[in-house]
Amino acid sequence: MELAETTGLSPATVSTIVKQLLAAGVVDTRNTVRSGRRAQLVTLAHQYGLLVGVHVSLRGVRIVIADSNFTVLEERVLPLPFDHRADTTLDRVALMIVELTETLGAELDEILGIGISAPAPIDPETGIISLPAVLRGWEDVPIADVLSRRLRVATFVDNDANLGALGEARLGAGRGVRDLLFVGVSYTVGAGIMIDGEIHHGVHGTAGEIGHALVDPLGAVCRCGSRGCLNAVVGVQHLIDSLQVSHGPLSLTELIRLAQEGDPGSGQVVEDAGAAVGIVIANTAATVSPSLVIVGGELAQTGDLLLEPIRTAVARRTVLNAAGPLPIVPSQLAARASVMGALALASDHAVAARGPLSLTSNTGSLQ
Ligand SMILES: [Zn+2]
Repeated sequence: MELAETTGLSPATVSTIVKQLLAAGVVDTRNTVRSGRRAQLVTLAHQYGLLVGVHVSLRGVRIVIADSNFTVLEERVLPLPFDHRADTTLDRVALMIVELTETLGAELDEILGIGISAPAPIDPETGIISLPAVLRGWEDVPIADVLSRRLRVATFVDNDANLGALGEARLGAGRGVRDLLFVGVSYTVGAGIMIDGEIHHGVHGTAGEIGHALVDPLGAVCRCGSRGCLNAVVGVQHLIDSLQVSHGPLSLTELIRLAQEGDPGSGQVVEDAGAAVGIVIANTAATVSPSLVIVGGELAQTGDLLLEPIRTAVARRTVLNAAGPLPIVPSQLAARASVMGALALASDHAVAARGPLSLTSNTGSLQ
C-alpha cells in the first residue's frame, strides 16, 4: 500500500511490478505487519546488497553505508584524538558498521564489501602501511584483514588520496576523465594519480606521496624523517601553529571560517599554502601529464583562496598548458571524496568476485 501511495500507481500495478522484480531476482519480499495490518515488505535482493565505506583520517572516522548504486543510506562521523591507535579505532569502526546495518534493518551478510581509506600509503602486496612513521599506532596492522575477520565481510584498503581520485573519477568532478590528479590538502598533503583510468600505486604504494616532496632544504624535519617536506611547511597543524601568535589556539574549522570571512592573517596562510602546494602540483603534473587536477581535503573549503595560487603556479609552467590551460577544480564530493572512493573500491572487488550486476535474468528482462 505504501508503495502504491508513494508512486501513485494502483495497488494492482505495484503488485505486478513487484512480481516481475521478484522473478528477476532484483527484490525480496517478506511478510510483516504495518499499522496493525498484514503487509509485504519489499527489499532489494541480497545480490544487489550494500556497500560500506570507511574513511579513517588523522582526527576522526567517517562511515557510510550505500546501496550498490552508491546512494548513501546511512552515514556517521566520529571525531578521534590525534594519534589514535589501530586497535581501538578498528574496534569502534566494527561496532559502528554493525549499528548502522541494524539501523537500516539489514544484516551483515547483505554487505557486498567494505572499503577502507587510510591516511598513509598502503603496500598493495601486504595491505600494511608502508611508511609506518606517518601513522603511529598503525604499524604492521593488516587493516583490511582485521575488519574482514571480525565482521566476516570482504574488506579492502587503500590510501585516502588514491581513493579521493577514484571517488571523484567515478562519482564527482572527474567523471569521464582517464588521466587526473586528486590532491587532498588537510592535516597532510597527498595526491592520487589516475593514469588511463587506473590508480597508479607505485612500489609499496607510495606513489603520489607529494606531502614528502622537498620544498625547503632548510625546513623543519617531517614525521617521515626527511627535512623540508611539503607537509612540514603547509600541513594544517603548521598553519594553525603559525597563527598562534596573532590568533591564539585555533581549530581547523575556525581557521577555515576566518579565512572565508576575509580575516587577513588566516587568508594569507591559506594563500601561502596554496602557492607551496601549487609548485609541487606543477612538478607532479609535469611528470604524469593529467588532463585535470582536482583539489580536495578540508582546506579546499576555502575555495579560490587556496585554488587561485595553485592555478597561478601551474599556469607559469608552459609545458603543462601547451594544449590549453590545465584545469584546477575543487573536489565535488568534498568531505566524502575518499569515503565514496572506498565504496567504489569495495564495489569493484564485489563485481570482480560475483560478476557485473545486471537487471536481466534467466526469467526475462525488466520492461
Ligand atoms: Zn616527510
